[in-house]
Amino acid sequence: PNYFGAGPALLPTSVLQEAAYDLINYENQNLGIGEISHRSKPAIKVIDDTKAKFAQLYNIPDTHEVFFMQGGGTTGFSSIPYNLLANYAKRTGKKGKGAYAVTGTWSKKSAEEASRLGFDVEIVNKTIGDIPPYSEWKPISKDTAYLYVCDNETVNGVEFKDIPGSEYLPEGVELVADMSSNVFSKVIDVSKYGLIMAGAQKNIGLAGLTIYIIKKTLLEQASDEELRALGLPLVPIAFHYPTVVKNNSAYNTIPIFTCHILKLVADKLLKDGGVPAIQKINEQKAQILYEALQNYPDVYLLIVTNPKVRSNMNVTFTLASPELEAKFLEEAAQHKLTGLKGHRSVGGMRASIYNAVSLQSVELLVEFVNKFAEANK
Ligand code: PLP
Repeated sequence: PNYFGAGPALLPTSVLQEAAYDLINYENQNLGIGEISHRSKPAIKVIDDTKAKFAQLYNIPDTHEVFFMQGGGTTGFSSIPYNLLANYAKRTGKKGKGAYAVTGTWSKKSAEEASRLGFDVEIVNKTIGDIPPYSEWKPISKDTAYLYVCDNETVNGVEFKDIPGSEYLPEGVELVADMSSNVFSKVIDVSKYGLIMAGAQKNIGLAGLTIYIIKKTLLEQASDEELRALGLPLVPIAFHYPTVVKNNSAYNTIPIFTCHILKLVADKLLKDGGVPAIQKINEQKAQILYEALQNYPDVYLLIVTNPKVRSNMNVTFTLASPELEAKFLEEAAQHKLTGLKGHRSVGGMRASIYNAVSLQSVELLVEFVNKFAEANK
């Protein structure tokens, strides 16, 4: 299908076919993958294999650990301040704070959640729909444990093209990135991050699991007594990173079918040339689509005005009137191009062109974008 929905998103058909079989009968044991114990050997192997494939895909160094939790990206918003400030308390004996760069809907939600939970939050940048240079951000202040960014803002369509280095980030302040909508879409240097968090349901799998890649030193946390003494809350056990890691992501029941899908998608990515190969295709897809839209400035308006930070995953644009937008969606659907309606908070259109959306699908969309513009300019 030529489907451009923002998430849950497309999965490779070959993966779904294999997974469908495994859901009924896994490794010819007459039991489905979702029916086996999460502590059984085959289940542990699925978890270990998925971690190993991810390590291969991102060249994850030994300094970092992969683990999985339920609860989606939103649980990351809550669990990150609990865990990272418990680590900061261990490192410094102090109650630290989180610095947040708000560049769109999701980083804003994350900052609001940390603040709602009673943690100390400092907004170092607030530019919804843009990412200004770090020199324009508020400097990181004392007692900051981490800097939080949303690497790709799914709703607004802005993406970081580089990450803050030592010119902005003081030593000891950990970089935390939400990559829910661009994980495994481009090459990154994992060693630069304290923590990467990503819901699986857009680029790498199904809803039900969130991926965490954490610097191992961040798993050390102050004891319950020390946290209480500092006035910090205890971390709920199901989201307590050290406990989850100690139990190889199966402290409580892990949705093993979802994990299996992650493994199959990772497998396919590796067979197709890994992250560098998919990055190239993703760049090409984004380039031809942005170019087509920009060719007709009287018909299409790109929502992100700064070309340097336009997302390679979510392309957002509006048309001249609500009537023209409705017409665009209707005619697109007639061409079997679906999932293009923008998020209700920003309106307009959004073409999500994640890993599983083929270049061919984007070419069909570009063809339609051109044809529609010619007929309506
Ligand atoms: N972060 C980003 C970048 C997202 O795009 C989303 C959802 O679309 C979320 C977080 C929230 O994820 P979830 O619905 O899994 O809680």
